[in-house]
Amino acid sequence: MNKWVYFFGAGKAEGAGEMKDILGGKGAGLAEMTRIGLPVPAGFTITTEACHYYYEHGNQYPPGLAKEVAAHVARLERVVGKKLGDAKDPLLVSVRSGAARSMPGMMETILNLGLNAQSVEALARNTKNERFAYDAYRRLVQMYSTVVIGLPKEQLEEKLRSMKQRFGVKGDTEVPASGWKELVGEYKAYFKEKTGKEFPEDPEEQLWGAIGAVFGSWGAEKSVTYRRVEKITGLLGTAANVVQMVFGNTGENSGTGVCFTRDPSSGERTFYGDFLINAQGEDVVAGIRTPMHLQEMAKRMPKLYAQLERVRKILEDHYRDMQDMEFTVEDGKLYMLQTRGGKRTPAATFRMAVDMAKEKLISKEEAVLRIKPEDIERLFYPVIDPQAAAGGLGRRQLASGINAVPGAAVGRVVFTAHEAEDWAKRGEKVILVRRETSPEDVGGMAVAQGILTATGGKTSHAAVVARGWGKCCIVGAEKLQVDSDAKTISVDGRVVKEGDWITLDGSEGLVYQGELPLVMPQLPPAYETLMGWADELRRLGVRTNADTPHDARKAREMGAEGIGLCRTEHMFFKDFEQPEKSVDRQLAIQEMILADNRETRVRALDKLLPFQRRDFSGIFKAMDGCPVTIRLIDPPLHEFVPHDRAKQEELAKRLGVSPETVAHRVEQLKEANPMLGHRGCRLSITYPEILEMQVRAIIEAAIECQKQGIKVFPEIMHPLTLDKKELRILEQATRRVADEVIGKAGAKLHYLVGTMIELPRAALLADQIAEVAEFFSFGTNDLTQTVMGLSRDDAGRFLPDYVDEKKAAVFPADPFQSLDQAGVGLLIQWAIEHGRATRPKLKIGICGEHGGDAESVKFCHKVGMNYVSASPYRVPISRLAAAQAVAQEKLDGRKTGKKRGKK
Ligand code: ADP
Ligand code: MG
Ligand code: MG
Repeated sequence: MNKWVYFFGAGKAEGAGEMKDILGGKGAGLAEMTRIGLPVPAGFTITTEACHYYYEHGNQYPPGLAKEVAAHVARLERVVGKKLGDAKDPLLVSVRSGAARSMPGMMETILNLGLNAQSVEALARNTKNERFAYDAYRRLVQMYSTVVIGLPKEQLEEKLRSMKQRFGVKGDTEVPASGWKELVGEYKAYFKEKTGKEFPEDPEEQLWGAIGAVFGSWGAEKSVTYRRVEKITGLLGTAANVVQMVFGNTGENSGTGVCFTRDPSSGERTFYGDFLINAQGEDVVAGIRTPMHLQEMAKRMPKLYAQLERVRKILEDHYRDMQDMEFTVEDGKLYMLQTRGGKRTPAATFRMAVDMAKEKLISKEEAVLRIKPEDIERLFYPVIDPQAAAGGLGRRQLASGINAVPGAAVGRVVFTAHEAEDWAKRGEKVILVRRETSPEDVGGMAVAQGILTATGGKTSHAAVVARGWGKCCIVGAEKLQVDSDAKTISVDGRVVKEGDWITLDGSEGLVYQGELPLVMPQLPPAYETLMGWADELRRLGVRTNADTPHDARKAREMGAEGIGLCRTEHMFFKDFEQPEKSVDRQLAIQEMILADNRETRVRALDKLLPFQRRDFSGIFKAMDGCPVTIRLIDPPLHEFVPHDRAKQEELAKRLGVSPETVAHRVEQLKEANPMLGHRGCRLSITYPEILEMQVRAIIEAAIECQKQGIKVFPEIMHPLTLDKKELRILEQATRRVADEVIGKAGAKLHYLVGTMIELPRAALLADQIAEVAEFFSFGTNDLTQTVMGLSRDDAGRFLPDYVDEKKAAVFPADPFQSLDQAGVGLLIQWAIEHGRATRPKLKIGICGEHGGDAESVKFCHKVGMNYVSASPYRVPISRLAAAQAVAQEKLDGRKTGKKRGKK
């Protein structure tokens, strides 16, 4: 029989920390904290499996659940020594959602369940605090009405406002008992008016209403949107945690807070957190009142702080990672209500991983495994150009706030999440400005460049969500008067309207008027340290795909160890070093293509030779000491020639031929299916003079560089080969030209000749092809197209459905982004095995987009490639992924090693 409910309390728990999948993160954390002896209120967790069942069976609870819950309520009552709904000493509980992955603020929680007309009186008597009891009661009625029944928030808030006005008070803490009492009456009347029923007095009814609402929140639109944006898939649902209530709102010796074991923005090892005196649960997270820092709490409540500090150490040592905790203090006693791995900025991720390894809390391998590809991407997020800042930004500064997520963002001001989405759809860059954000805002937050709120701390909804995305965010900019109806922000007499440009500096927490220039940031020292560890670990080489000296230099800065793919056809379009010469190149290549005999073709190629030589020599220089793989031309020829009449005439004039000749040749070159047409090495079979020119340019450039003391390792690569004999012809032609140039120059130059493997036939016949090729480079873009029979250029129309979990979900990911390991991967493995059977030292790499995708890189490691090649900015991601593959092997080895040792 299935177990649907797990108990925790009085130092014992049926569940444990590693049961996140079925207990959810919150439930697993509560169980684990209970086990290790931390002060946690007792309770029980209804599993995510029950939620899954609920959704699978048309919102029916699993049979037996009701009985199990009743038994656990009874057990909870025994442990706590109070009874739900009791007229003398009532037990109160919260019902809290919590899935296996944290979805901040997306799902519902209801507090103070068990209060009714009778038990509220008992609570007042027992605590000698009527004010507190009725405050708790009105919160229950409010939450129950909105969350369980779905009544609109606004009207209830309106009633709260007018009650405060009547009593002449501003803050919630100033409201007297009679105020809350009146409000409860009004809320209940409103409840009856809207639902036609009395507010439920029966605690059991309240409990089941809340459980239903928690399960229901899993399927709510905002949660579904959040999971889509965050790409969270494969979860069963949410758990529901029923937890004994503890109260932070009983007076000045109580309060509630959120803290992190290390600073989530910088990663520094300081205790970071916010605390609100005399407040309950949601008050901190909702950012309604701006809380005090933990340091301040240390001064005001030193004993409590010391206790919290001990919990901090216990939890971090136990989880061996930075924790994000919720706690509540009831009359001076500390209770832990939640712990989870804390979200952090990319810079903090690096710093914490490195610090923790140095502190010996984790191993270097674990440190390397802690970094995700997104963390690296986000490290390179822009900052405000220091040069622009040097000019003095003082006048432009609008306000300062709390630096919740670093980086900088520029955009136009919008005031609602809907507008943010509308504007973004039109291609506008927007900054979402709110007084505070709520879970309904995620869609707009996701498309905004940055987020700015007037209230809230680093633990507010806006900050937590933005941090998860690495999105620039400033909160608590209290000077800003945000008027979302008038669509204006005013500060000290200055007014910013919807559509106006502003710039956020999320690292400093500063808001500027206007559009400031952004540049790349300086990388934190921990990045260098950690990437150093990664490089020591990995066995896979990491090269780059670069076509220009500029890209090659950039890639080396990013840690590339050579070029895995230099595409020569790009060089025909554009002169990267001297852009004004681009036209000469284009003309020369067009002349070459239009040539209808060898002689004119050779003449045109002679014009191209010096350009190519200069390009190659620039690249060799940038890659001094590293191998450079140059792929011979692989163009769809017709892309190089003009298609409209005017351009054709212009070309005809320049070449001294008739426009008809040009038009005719363009027509001739047209192919029904260019992807499988006259391209790649097929071109050099037909026109060997193209190959001859390119090889000459490569070898001449290499010799020239060598003379200047540069170490060159050219690798000449033939694209799209499909047969050994074909490759043999090309290889012989290559060597003939190369050896002649080398001989004439009296130079000594070692070079390799190899091929791309991008057709199934080439992969299948790898053993034969390896007789000729000295290296293979898997061109997985074309290989994916040809193995799957899907055109990359057209797949955008239907492939999303193939990946969408809600639709077909045929593939786990887009096969053009992440290698199809099952299909294309199988062929790659075959080709490696058979290639190396012929030539054991065969050098093997990959040069498709996949070389910069972490999962694909790990696959390349596993199948024994020598290197991967990625675009310059993805080089660090590949270095890290290659190291993670080794680190994981080591950790797994250690585990199985231990097991074996025990036997
Ligand atoms: P979320 O996932 O949105 O943080 P929680 O279930 O953690 O939702 O609860 C919301 C707030 O209510 C939190 O601040 C939490 O600490 C507080 N809270 C939840 N359960 C209790 C309880 N039993 N006693 C006191 N406070 C609680
Ligand atoms: Mg919540
Ligand atoms: Mg929480």
